[in-house]
Amino acid sequence: MLKIAKYKDLIKIILAVVFLIIIYSVLLYDTKFFAIARLKTIDLLYNLSYSLKPPPRQINDMVLVTIDDESFNKLQKRWPLERTLFASMLDKLNSYNPRVISIDMSFIGESKDKNDDYIFAKAIKDCGNVILSAYIGDNGEYVLPLKYLQDASVGSGFVNKPRDKDLYVRSARSFYYFGDLHIVDYSFEIKTAATFLGNPLSNISLSKNKIILIDRVLKQKSKIVNIPVNFDGTTAINYRAKINRFNTVPLWRILSGEVDANILKDKLVLIGATAEVFHDIYHTPFGVMPGVFINANDILMILSSDFIRDIPDYIAFFILFIMGLATCIFVYRLTLAKGFMFSFLEILLLFALSFILFLNNFHADYFSPVFAVLMITLVTDVYKHFNLIIESQILKTQAITDGLTGLFVHRYFKLRMDAEFERAKREESNLTLIIMDIDHFKNINDTYGHQNGNVVLKHISQILSGTSRKVDVVCRYGGEEFCVILPGTHATGASIYTERLRKSIEDYNFPVSGSNLKATMSLGIASFPSCGALSSDELIADADNALYRAKQTGRNKVCVFDPVIDKPDKNA
Ligand code: GH3
Ligand code: MG
Ligand code: MG
Repeated sequence: MLKIAKYKDLIKIILAVVFLIIIYSVLLYDTKFFAIARLKTIDLLYNLSYSLKPPPRQINDMVLVTIDDESFNKLQKRWPLERTLFASMLDKLNSYNPRVISIDMSFIGESKDKNDDYIFAKAIKDCGNVILSAYIGDNGEYVLPLKYLQDASVGSGFVNKPRDKDLYVRSARSFYYFGDLHIVDYSFEIKTAATFLGNPLSNISLSKNKIILIDRVLKQKSKIVNIPVNFDGTTAINYRAKINRFNTVPLWRILSGEVDANILKDKLVLIGATAEVFHDIYHTPFGVMPGVFINANDILMILSSDFIRDIPDYIAFFILFIMGLATCIFVYRLTLAKGFMFSFLEILLLFALSFILFLNNFHADYFSPVFAVLMITLVTDVYKHFNLIIESQILKTQAITDGLTGLFVHRYFKLRMDAEFERAKREESNLTLIIMDIDHFKNINDTYGHQNGNVVLKHISQILSGTSRKVDVVCRYGGEEFCVILPGTHATGASIYTERLRKSIEDYNFPVSGSNLKATMSLGIASFPSCGALSSDELIADADNALYRAKQTGRNKVCVFDPVIDKPDKNA
């Protein structure tokens, strides 16, 4: 029993923690704020791990040709560039023998001069390794490149990226099905990577939760690349390279032929727009990036098979729960400082664990356990603090009240007497003290037993409390003696009240083991300033002397202190 009582509070907090975690996971988990907090935690880890984790070596297989502001200046052109210019670019690129040329720009409509399109189509065909980009329109329609261009190319893939709640691009749509599940197309990046790895595009296959490519370029043995996909067709992009880590060549340099042939031979050439006029830039964990660099990261991930693995939610939830409980138990039992220390170490540990997992491509909800530890530390400490306040309040009350009667104890009576006397003196107001003693209480104890004597004491206390004013202080002065301090009351007023009190006790039937017991009281009154007391002790002595006279002159009566009759020194 004792053990259970000891753990009762702890059980209460644990239940509160479970409740908090349930509230969090059911009501708050998917709110924008927490969704973004989780995403930003991952972004933070991307940036912290960047210097420790160089991009995969496959980054050297890639060259980005950027259609940048510098090229517009050098070429003295404006957007839209005529397609014959793209044709010249392809002719130049082709002469360097890259393995794949992927153009991350959509060529949908026809040119003003149809001939331009034929020239461009011919250049595409001559290369024999060009991938074009398609996109999924706002209404879900699939928009392919212009027919002759599409036919001249190896194929096309869509470039759309889903955006997170904070509009950041952290994943790619890897495959897309429209209406009929059997009609599927794959992303521009998958098609580019597949072609680079030597796959005919018809070879890309989709199984339940992965897209399968085969690396046929490997000399000894071909390798299967399994691209993980979520049920909605998306794949998280494992960002491994910031803009400046990619090999880039501006368009103008390709056109001017000032490029070292080795730079492009056998490479994956990705052509994309970076000039401001395109407005093709997005937020990513590595800051804002033109779309082509996002695609480049996606392709790099596929080429290096460097995919993100999600830690299942139930494991993350289990960690959250264990951390929550540990925090709750330790913070509850430790002192405030040690509790904070524990939580701090726990968060450090969580962070280190997250970092190690992150370095190994395991992504999870790293934010929630840290948040849970912080919240639970706070809740537990606040709970402990309130408990302390309440406990000390209870102790305080217990220290000044009497267990049997609930009245104030003698110690408190003395303190209040001193304070009230000083106030009466200062404010020149009246202060009356009544001291009373039950008549022949020994007989009551002897006749009815000590227990029944206690019943009498309790009932008298109730009568005293019930008849007194809020400002009056009712105390148990001793065993069967009581006193009431009446601030602001003079002797005459007090004696009327006291007489009424005496009468109601005389008339009261104490319910004692079946029979009705009768008891009477003798009461003594002393009032400041009329009694002439110079201190609270003197006032107490005066009231005591008046009580003494009441006892002497027949009991069951009220006597008001009279300095002439009640000589203090005589009665001491
Ligand atoms: P009187 O005051 O009229 O002179 O006679 P008395 O019999 O009341 O005398 P006194 O005041 O000296 O007796 C006090 C008695 O009260 C002694 C003690 O046994 C009893 N007493 C003191 N405290 C308690 C208590 O808490 N419970 C009970 N039942 N009796 C108590
Ligand atoms: Mg007594
Ligand atoms: Mg008595």
